[in-house]
Amino acid sequence: MKNTGIIMDNRYLEHKAAFHHPENPQRLEAIYKGIKENEIFEKLLLIEPRIADKEEIALIHDYQYIDEIESYAGSQKMLDADTYLSERSPEIARLAAGGLLNLVDAVISGRITNGFALIRPPGHHAEKDRAMGFCIYNNIAIGARYAMARYCLERIAIIDWDLHHGNGTQNAFYADPGVLYFSIHQYPHYPGTGAFSEIGTGKGEGFNINIPLSSGHGDADYCLIFDEIISPVCREFQPQLIMVSAGFDIYFMDPLGGMQVTEKGFGAITSKIISIADDLCAGNLICVLEGGYNLEGLAQGTIEVLNKMVTGEKKIEISERGISSDLPEIIKKVKQSHKGYWKCF
Ligand SMILES: [Zn+2]
Repeated sequence: MKNTGIIMDNRYLEHKAAFHHPENPQRLEAIYKGIKENEIFEKLLLIEPRIADKEEIALIHDYQYIDEIESYAGSQKMLDADTYLSERSPEIARLAAGGLLNLVDAVISGRITNGFALIRPPGHHAEKDRAMGFCIYNNIAIGARYAMARYCLERIAIIDWDLHHGNGTQNAFYADPGVLYFSIHQYPHYPGTGAFSEIGTGKGEGFNINIPLSSGHGDADYCLIFDEIISPVCREFQPQLIMVSAGFDIYFMDPLGGMQVTEKGFGAITSKIISIADDLCAGNLICVLEGGYNLEGLAQGTIEVLNKMVTGEKKIEISERGISSDLPEIIKKVKQSHKGYWKCF
């Protein structure tokens, strides 16, 4: 049995558009309801979030940008074509980042082995000086920088399985060999970045690994990507902490995505990550909610992930759909792009 924490707080529902928007409070309501009605709930440790202070947000973002966001408190505003701010959003965005920071504290201090920050707004598209793609502050990037700054961690692996490329996270660590970033995403698709050739720069060259996929990939494909790329590279990198941008928009019913992952698939890839974490970093793993716009997929996906986090169960059960015909070539291209940097390739 693991010791698993979650961040859950109704204040995250206060970030809401005045019009219909796919990134809405119902997403978290569905997750909170789903886990509360499931037997998993009594096995989880609830961890209080806090409002991250400006200095913590500034680990990733420019002060000028933070001040701009703060100045919109009490009003509604579109920050780009997709990203809204409502009256309380500046505070709630800081509460999202601060929830993750408290989870980092709980994991690093040993209070819990692993945890899932069930927070919003999401973060992985946010750039240092601008909001983007429903994201205001880049929660996972702030969390990783905080773990490095506060606890002197030198190597963190971030695995981003959200449907969309995490451009903000990639850019935050593009020249940083201390953060190994993997992104599996639909490509070409929003936000347009995430090609094989984006491998990092300077000292960070080789530490940014994109796995761009056409649509239609399912459980077996994601499992093979872990076996062929993520697991061997992580074993070479030896992270002290693994963080996951968990997006449930790769679910087969998701209205914004074109992937075919089932709830079993979310459990399977979590098992694979737990195997890596158990072998390399005492099981320390932090998942952060990103996208996911089908309410059933969000709730069931989260339950599957938490089940594996709590039990540590490694048995892989996936849908019967096999490996997509184009995946071997994609894996080959990822290995070719990175063979100068990783011995396993
Ligand atoms: Zn997404």
